[in-house]
Amino acid sequence: MLKYILFILGCIANSAFATTSFVDKELQLFATKYELDYKVDIKKQTLSATGIITVKNNSANVADHIPMRLYRLLHVSAVKNNAGAPLAFSQHVLSNEDWPVLQTNYVEVQLKKGIEPNESYTFQVQFDGSLLGYSETGMNYVKDSISADFSILRMDAFAYPIITYPNDDVNHKAKFWLHTYDYDVRVTVPTGYVVANGGSLQPVLQNTEQTTYRYVNKLPAWRMDFAIARYEQYSKGRYSVFSWESPEDSNALLQEINNTFELYSNWFGPLQQELGYTFIEVPENYGAQADVTAVIQDAEGFRELGRVYHEISHQWNVKTLDTFSPRWNEGLATYLQAATTDLGKPGHLESKTQTFMNQLRDRFKDNPIYSKTAFIDYGKADLNSYAVGMVFFRIMSDLLGTDEFNAIIGKFYRTYHKQGATTQEFIDFINKNSKVDLTTFFNEWAYSGKYTERVLSTTSYRDLIDYYSTSLSKQMASIPKNVR
Ligand SMILES: [Zn+2]
Repeated sequence: MLKYILFILGCIANSAFATTSFVDKELQLFATKYELDYKVDIKKQTLSATGIITVKNNSANVADHIPMRLYRLLHVSAVKNNAGAPLAFSQHVLSNEDWPVLQTNYVEVQLKKGIEPNESYTFQVQFDGSLLGYSETGMNYVKDSISADFSILRMDAFAYPIITYPNDDVNHKAKFWLHTYDYDVRVTVPTGYVVANGGSLQPVLQNTEQTTYRYVNKLPAWRMDFAIARYEQYSKGRYSVFSWESPEDSNALLQEINNTFELYSNWFGPLQQELGYTFIEVPENYGAQADVTAVIQDAEGFRELGRVYHEISHQWNVKTLDTFSPRWNEGLATYLQAATTDLGKPGHLESKTQTFMNQLRDRFKDNPIYSKTAFIDYGKADLNSYAVGMVFFRIMSDLLGTDEFNAIIGKFYRTYHKQGATTQEFIDFINKNSKVDLTTFFNEWAYSGKYTERVLSTTSYRDLIDYYSTSLSKQMASIPKNVR
C-alpha cells in the first residue's frame, strides 16, 4: 500500500516537474571532487558506474537540491548521502531550454538539510546505460560510444554527472560553472584494452578477464577524458603517447615532446613542477582537446605539432590573479607555437605573423570595440586575446631580442609561479628587468586602443616593428650615453 501511495505521489511530482522552468534558477553548486568507478562492458556496449561527488555551495543562499545532467541514455539507479542513506531524487530526459536539440537526463537530488553557503557536501550516485553520441545536436564530433574499436568517456557527452541545469544561460550566469576540481577515477575494461587519460596513472590491477586503470588529476581539471582502445603505450620518463600509429611514428612524436620540454627548459629555465605530458590518439573527427598536461587528437597530431608546442609552453605560465584576465598567456603560447614551428620550418613565424596581422586588420575594421579597449582590459570586455596577444609578444620579443625576451619570461615564471601574478605585475616586472625602454610599446599595446591604429595604418609586420624600433632609438638618443 505504502509503495502504491509513493507511486501516486511520484507521478504527481513528475507531472509537476515536467512543467518546471529553469529560467529563474540560480546555479549555486559546483563540483570540487569526483571519485568515479566505471565498469565498461565492451561486448554489451554499456557502462555502469558508482561515484562519490563533492560539491560546494558558492552562492549566498542555502541550496536545498543538487542539479545534475547526465547523458540521455544513462540512468541513475541510486543516490545516497555519504553515510550510505538513500536520498530522494527525480530524473527526466529533458531538452535544454535554450538549446532544445540537446537532451540530457536531468537529475535533481532533494536534500532534507540544505547546503549552507561555502559549505561542501559529499554524496554517492550510481548510474548505468549506454552512449550513442550527440550528432543530432550538430556536435558531430561527439560520436562517443562504447564499442570494440574505440570508446570514450568525456564531458562533451555528459558521461559523468555535471552539476548544472538544462539551461546553459542559467549555468553561464554562475561564473564558476566550469570551476576546476580534483578527480580520482577507476575504469575497468576487458583485459587487452588500455584506458588513456592525461592524469597520473596509478598501479594497474589486472587479471585474465579485467583490467582496472586508475587516474588521479595532476592539476585541478575542468573536464575529464578517458579514451579506451587497444592502444600501444610509448613512454619516456613523464611523457606518454597512446597510439595505434606505427612504432616509428609514435616514438618520433614521443621524442618531439621530449625535445620541446628540453627546448623550453633551455629558453626559460627548468620547470618548478614536473607534470609530464600525455598524447592520446582518437579516431578522425572526434574533435581535439588540449590542456596543459595532455592532448587528445587524431592522427593529424603526429604531423602537425603546433598544438603540442602551444600546450607544453603553458607549463611555464603562472596563475593569473586578475579578476578579469586578458588571458595574455594565450598570446604568449600562440607566439611560442609559431616561433617553435619556425625552427623546423624557417619562414613560418614570418608568414604566421602576417596572417594574424591580416586577421586583426579585418577584426579591428569590423569591431570598433577593439579601438576602445586596451589589451589589459580584454578580460572585462570578453575579447579574444590569441591573435592580438601573438603580435604583442612577437613585437616584444623583437624589441628585446630573443635571448633577453626568453630570459625575462623565465625569470617571471620562477619569481611568481608559487603565488601567481596580475597582468599589471607582469608588465611591471618586464619594465623593471628589461634593458630596453618599452614605455611607448606598452602605452599603445597594453594601456590604450592605440595598437589598432598602428595595425590599420601599416601594411606589414616589418612596418610595425620598424616604427617601434625607430621610436626606441629616438628615446635612446634623448638619453645621455653615460646614463644608458
Ligand atoms: Zn592555450
